[in-house]
Amino acid sequence: MNVLYLRIPNSEFLYEEKHVTNPIIQVAPAIFQIQVPVPFPLKTVQCYLVREENGWTMIDTGLQYEPAHQAWADAFQTLNIEPRALRQIIVTHAHPDHYGLAGHFQNLTGAPVYLLEHEIEIATFEWQADGERMDMLAQYFKRHGLASNIAASVYERQMQVLAMVQPQPVMSPLHEGATIAIGEEAYRIIWTPGHADGHIILQRADGLAFTGDLVLMKITPNIARWPGLARNPLGDYLASLDKVESLHITRALPGHRAIIQTWTARIAELRAHHAARLNECFNAARNCTAYQICLEVFPRLKSVDEMRLALLETLSHLEYLVAKGRMTRQEKRLAPDQEVVLYTARRAAD
Ligand SMILES: [Zn+2]
Repeated sequence: MNVLYLRIPNSEFLYEEKHVTNPIIQVAPAIFQIQVPVPFPLKTVQCYLVREENGWTMIDTGLQYEPAHQAWADAFQTLNIEPRALRQIIVTHAHPDHYGLAGHFQNLTGAPVYLLEHEIEIATFEWQADGERMDMLAQYFKRHGLASNIAASVYERQMQVLAMVQPQPVMSPLHEGATIAIGEEAYRIIWTPGHADGHIILQRADGLAFTGDLVLMKITPNIARWPGLARNPLGDYLASLDKVESLHITRALPGHRAIIQTWTARIAELRAHHAARLNECFNAARNCTAYQICLEVFPRLKSVDEMRLALLETLSHLEYLVAKGRMTRQEKRLAPDQEVVLYTARRAAD
C-alpha cells in the first residue's frame, strides 16, 4: 500500500491517500469503471472507459496527481489499450477531478475533448493559468467573512488545484439535446446545471446513463456559488432534478460512490436534504456573514477543502433564499478597504 501525505501550506490538515488496489470494475457490457485517486476528501473520482469496435471512449479523467497516473496506467495495461486507440474524451463538467487530465490525455493520444458548449466557456474562465481568477476568489471569500488566515490557506489550495488541471485541452463543443455515439450506442446529451453550470449527463435508450455528479448516493453533490458564475446555482440544481426525474434512468453510472438504481427515490432524498438545509440557513441568518452562518450549519469542518466547499454551499442556499425574496443581502463597509456582505432572513414579524 502506498501512503502519501499531502502538505497543505498554512494549515495543519493532512490527507492520507491510499493506493486503490482494484480500481477497474466492469459495470456493463463493454463499460469499465476506473477508480482514480484524487487528493481531496472524496478520495476517488469514477471515470469510465467504453470499448468500441475500433477504439475506446474515455468519460472523465481525474487530475494531475501521481496516484491518478498510476491508476490510468494500470487500467490501460489491464484492458490492453494503446494510447492511440483512445478515440474521444468526454468530460461531464469542468471540475478539476473530472477535467484535470483531459489535456494530458489529449496530448498523449490526439483524441478530441468534448464538453457542453457552455462548459467550455466556464472552463476557459475558471482555469485561467495566470491566477487572476484565484485572486478574485480570495477577495470573494474575504467579503463573505472568511478569516484572513483561512482565506490565505484557501488561496494556496486553489493555486494547487490550478496546477492539477494543466495542461489545458483544446475543447470541442457538445450541444444540449443532441446525441453522441459511444461504442455502438447513441447517447442523448442532457444539460443539468447546478453542481456545475455546464454539467451534462449522457443517457441511452435502454435507461443506462453516465450521470457525473448530478445525483450521488450517500453524499450530496456540492452546490457551490462561485463568483462570476451562475447567480442561483441551487435554483438551477433543483430545476435539473425536476428535469431528469421523469427520464427513464434505470442504471446511473456516477462520478462518485455507488451505481444508482433507485433514481427517483434518491432525487426525492436530495430535494429533502436541500429543503432542510435551506431551513437551517434561514434560521441562522440574523445580520450575519455567510461564514458565520456556515459555521452554525456545518459545525464539524475538518479541513481547508471542507471549509471552502461548505462556505460556497452555504452561499448557494443563502442566494436561493434571496432570489425567493425570503432573505436580504446587504453590504457593509468595515474599513475603507474592507467590505462584508451580511444576510438577514425576512421573518414574519419583520
Ligand atoms: Zn466530482
